[in-house]
Amino acid sequence: MAMPPVTRPQEAREYLDALQQRKWQAELFGRVDNSRLTAGSPMRYYCEVCGLQSDVLAESDFVTRPKKQCAACKEMLDRGYSPSLGKFPGVDTSVIDTHGETVGHRRLGR
Ligand SMILES: [Zn+2]
Repeated sequence: MAMPPVTRPQEAREYLDALQQRKWQAELFGRVDNSRLTAGSPMRYYCEVCGLQSDVLAESDFVTRPKKQCAACKEMLDRGYSPSLGKFPGVDTSVIDTHGETVGHRRLGR
């Protein structure tokens, strides 16, 4: 079932924050270089949006198409996120950013 496009700034902000977290995780975890694995090792694929692992397929599997995005990014794309723009077009999150609604509680961390 398709989810409706994101229209509320608060919702867009939450998606964007979660995406940023995944990008940091992806950087932290790094990637497996498939070409350096021993024969027979499963092939790993990475999300084209956030960089986290999106799929693992058997090396012998030439039939299954690897997922290009992880589930979380797929959902963002389905709901209108544009990776090239880095935002949900038409949803203005600066309204929230300047008021510090969601930015605020991140400062509590440290
Ligand atoms: Zn992703």
